[in-house]
Amino acid sequence: MRDQIVLQRRESKQIEVGDVTVGGDAPIAVQSMTNTLTTDIDATVAQVQRLEQAGADIVRISVPDPESAAAMPEILKQTNVPIIADIHFSYKMALLALDAGVHGLRLNPGNIGTRDRVERVVKAAAERQVSIRIGVNAGSLEKELNEKYGEPCADAMVESALNHIRILEDMNFNDIKISLKASNIPMTVAAYRKLAKLVDYPLHLGITESGSRFGGTVKSSIGLGLLLADGIGDTIRVSLAAEPEEEVKVGFEILKALGLRHRGVNLIACPSCARQKFNVIEIVTELEERLAHIQENVDVAVIGCVVNGPGEAKEVDVGITGGYPVHMMYQDGEKAEKVRTANMIDRLVEDVERRAAIIREQAEGNS
Ligand code: SF4
Repeated sequence: MRDQIVLQRRESKQIEVGDVTVGGDAPIAVQSMTNTLTTDIDATVAQVQRLEQAGADIVRISVPDPESAAAMPEILKQTNVPIIADIHFSYKMALLALDAGVHGLRLNPGNIGTRDRVERVVKAAAERQVSIRIGVNAGSLEKELNEKYGEPCADAMVESALNHIRILEDMNFNDIKISLKASNIPMTVAAYRKLAKLVDYPLHLGITESGSRFGGTVKSSIGLGLLLADGIGDTIRVSLAAEPEEEVKVGFEILKALGLRHRGVNLIACPSCARQKFNVIEIVTELEERLAHIQENVDVAVIGCVVNGPGEAKEVDVGITGGYPVHMMYQDGEKAEKVRTANMIDRLVEDVERRAAIIREQAEGNS
């Protein structure tokens, strides 16, 4: 319901990861990565399914050894979301993952051996129309670049990416996306900004080793937010030392905050103060849990008193403003009904669910 300033996205080439398009005007895809042992098929499938439920568009799985590669066909059979195999150094693992039917590879062609080996992987990927993400990481830059630049820096990361890109382009392979990850935010941002001007491949954004759920969320929001606000970024992964579903939730919150993608409820709440006429923190915490199942884009405002309440409530689909002894519910910006604290969560959930059902029906009618 709120008017959003629409951010202009950088023009990038489109590639496919399974049935998900990345780049161009495709929705910015949200990714995460499993942290189970890939050889533990049941645990990995269960985690991928939880990520699917959380809304992940793409899931990455490490394939470090032949046993993990052997598990991939069964994992792919039991899951729906496109799967990217994460490969380091071994062209054999890349070939095994491609044979298993993965939808994407994450590997750095300069790190998997001789030209002959790279060619075998690239040929197999091209035959299966599988895209490749080049993933440059400041912590594992090539020795020559560290020597040339003295220490990891944005220029070194960009040069590394360009070297890997050239290897693939020389083999006429262009289904590429690129990431330039570092735990240092200014360095990451500078590297992406520079590369964004030099190539038109889609960019996968991430701040690596960003930290705990709280600290990592802040760091990722700043790093990814700066770039996304510049129009840079076609797919994102928030890295947290937390369950991967949390990464997906944070990813969507970042995109929602910038009006770039909508999934689920956009909850606006006042910070609360002595004027609050109900306990805003308690209500918002419970409401967030009760509305976690909503996938449609519904704006909800929970405001503790009339200072800012009516103004905010007018801008959203469903709102509540604290009053005494009753609170005012809003629907589509209009006053709707008075409720008591004991009933307000149930009534808000009802209204949001009704609103979500309308949005769903409209979407089905349009498709
Ligand atoms: S809206 Fe009212 S309760 Fe909420 S922070 Fe502002 S003054 Fe305090």
